[in-house]
Amino acid sequence: MTNKRKEYARYSRAVTRGPRWRFLRRQALDRDGWACVRCGTHMRLECDHIKPVRTHPELSYTFSNLQILCGRCHAKKTRIEVGHSVLPQKRQKWRDLLRDMQL
Ligand SMILES: [Zn+2]
Repeated sequence: MTNKRKEYARYSRAVTRGPRWRFLRRQALDRDGWACVRCGTHMRLECDHIKPVRTHPELSYTFSNLQILCGRCHAKKTRIEVGHSVLPQKRQKWRDLLRDMQL
């Protein structure tokens, strides 16, 4: 993990602790039908801040700024946000495979 990614994780951890977040996350899951909004899977769902907490802390608990993503789509989105380019398809597939094995 790069420093930038660690920094992002630290910001969102401060938000994703606590009952307020758990309630919002549950609401977002219900709204998005317990599925990833990008690929539609029901596996390993995470609640994502559309506009990242680091750059938009005021939107941390804004319902419309939340979306449900699976682990894969979430990782891809974060990767682009921290300024990495999109991986070539072959490498991305390999990463996805590794992620799935960590279940
Ligand atoms: Zn997905």
